[in-house]
Amino acid sequence: MRADILTIFPGFFRGPLEHGITRRACEMGLATIEVHDLREFTHDKHRTVDDRPFGGGEGMVLKPEPLFECLESLGLAPREERIAGRAKQSVILLSAQGQRFTQKVAAELAALDRIVLICGRYEGVDERVADFLADRELSIGDYVLSGGEMAAAVVIEAVTRLLPGALGNEASARQESFTAQAEKKKIEGADSTCGSGGLLDYPHYTRPAEFVGMNVPEVLLSGNHEEIRRWRHQRALEKTLRNRPDLLDGAQLSDEDNKLLAAIRERWAAQAESPD
Ligand code: SAH
Repeated sequence: MRADILTIFPGFFRGPLEHGITRRACEMGLATIEVHDLREFTHDKHRTVDDRPFGGGEGMVLKPEPLFECLESLGLAPREERIAGRAKQSVILLSAQGQRFTQKVAAELAALDRIVLICGRYEGVDERVADFLADRELSIGDYVLSGGEMAAAVVIEAVTRLLPGALGNEASARQESFTAQAEKKKIEGADSTCGSGGLLDYPHYTRPAEFVGMNVPEVLLSGNHEEIRRWRHQRALEKTLRNRPDLLDGAQLSDEDNKLLAAIRERWAAQAESPD
């Protein structure tokens, strides 16, 4: 995959792209990431990338010309081809007003040949970029950042680790939080015994088995794989119910799971009644 990032702060990406799996994916040739400085696509002495908003109001707005010119230089397929899915490319504007970036979207993007990430700044980007240049707007969450760079780094990291071969161990991706059955099937060689099925991941422990009086759950030391699988699944259910009950609506739950959830709720209710 090739990713292009359009930004007024190209130096920002030195950190995020030079560590961990993203760096390894680049070194292995699975991903090529190019960062483009929007100021290089300006033609005035001050290399101006922003201007005052029409209609008045606070702050500045990123001008459209450098963005259109930079994108033009990338030689992408026409926008209609990209939007129709005939070209495996997507031009994405990072925006608090965008659709939510989720693991599902990350998997969709990981299947493309090319993504372009446009980072806004100031009050945002001239709306003609969203209307005529970008194929979609993505938000990484319901909060406002000062720029799209951090969001672009999040998208790059979530996507590159899904590229086949990037994790070194394909099994790692299949059992993680949010990974639904359908996406797991796409990851080759995945077996479905441990998949998260749209739940949060189960808890992980490593050595030492006892650490200043805190013990690793006995079952994990038992060597009984079926018991371990069941325990992990129960804990994933419990954690999802506690931290993200909204995910349960979209998760693949068996009758057994629903019984377990009912039991957990009962246990919590009983605990709430007798606080000790
Ligand atoms: N006035 C805008 C916020 C602009 S913040 C609003 O209220 O919606 C400046 C830039 O930061 C945006 O153009 C966008 O590129 C980026 N940004 C801010 N919040 C973001 C989020 N939640 N997800 C992705 N990008 C975001």
